[in-house]
Amino acid sequence: MGRLRAMREPLKYVQGRNALNKFYDEMSYMGKRWLFVCSNSGYKACHDKIEASFGDHDDYRRYEIFSGISSNGEIKKMEDIVKTDNIDVVVAIGGGSAVDTAKATAYYTGKHIVIVPTVAATDAPCTGLSVIYNDDHSFDKYLFYPTNPDAVMVDCNVIANAPVHFLVSGMGDALGTYFEGRASIRTESSSLEGTGITRAGQALAKLCYETLRQYGKQAIEACKLHAVTPALEYIIEANVYLSGVGADNVNCAAAHSFYNGVTSVGCKHADHGDCVALGTLVQLVLEGAPKEEFDDVQSFCLEVGLPVTLEQIGITTEEQVRTIAENACVPGETIHNLAGDVQPCEMFDAIMQADALGKLALAR
Ligand SMILES: [Zn+2]
Repeated sequence: MGRLRAMREPLKYVQGRNALNKFYDEMSYMGKRWLFVCSNSGYKACHDKIEASFGDHDDYRRYEIFSGISSNGEIKKMEDIVKTDNIDVVVAIGGGSAVDTAKATAYYTGKHIVIVPTVAATDAPCTGLSVIYNDDHSFDKYLFYPTNPDAVMVDCNVIANAPVHFLVSGMGDALGTYFEGRASIRTESSSLEGTGITRAGQALAKLCYETLRQYGKQAIEACKLHAVTPALEYIIEANVYLSGVGADNVNCAAAHSFYNGVTSVGCKHADHGDCVALGTLVQLVLEGAPKEEFDDVQSFCLEVGLPVTLEQIGITTEEQVRTIAENACVPGETIHNLAGDVQPCEMFDAIMQADALGKLALAR
């Protein structure tokens, strides 16, 4: 028997202007007792709309404001609430931490999970995995789930009212999807979820890049005005759905290893999307991509305000670059989905060249 190919995605994806006004209509089939795991700002942005959507229905609703990270302790706390309050559906409202905490809570208790992202900064909402931390905030593990979330609902007005840098950051994360996926396909690596890669996964990754290229700049201008336009809606879909489902069904490569390398030099708060964008440029150098392609991706970064040099992400010494290159190449890193067995010295050279080309572009 040959290797299995698989396609995974949320069972339901709903997005639009004031989408949360329809929260009850779209999600009520899942149960009658709800636990909302909210970030502080997520609660403010979403509570009133969700409550209004319930109208006269007397479903049990409990909102928990959550200020921590997705640590084992926080997840345990939420699990206890699910049990004592006899919850049917866990709903995440917020960014990555709320999403990962709620996903893990629903998984461990066997309940439905709905994700309401309040920023479009990463591809976490649609994927079938979480990053879990220890209670001292150190990294514990990636938790892989057997399925992706039951539903994802994105209210475009909530995203349009969030700071624009989240949207730009999400575009950086989404920028890697096509190029990292393409590298994984070339070497017949498995998908992020461990199966063979489908043509559907490839198509989503490609559409993700095309959408960024065509609508990225317009979407930023719309977001600055808090205006929900087609361009903004397309970019929200690219950042949240195409990038998340795309990445899950293809795989990551050098761009995400670059990010992991950067976090290893103590830039703990290095922005994920910023690093993945610069990491994509590094990957293209590493692959010997044609000049036209490199220039196209670089000019996209310049157009939307993603970094093209090391200095822009706070890396200033060669010593740091050496550490990044070494940590990006440790066994198990997705950089090994690239053709050839990439060595730290090759990664170092590629980082330096991508940076030099970025400096040239900025000087123009
Ligand atoms: Zn990412």
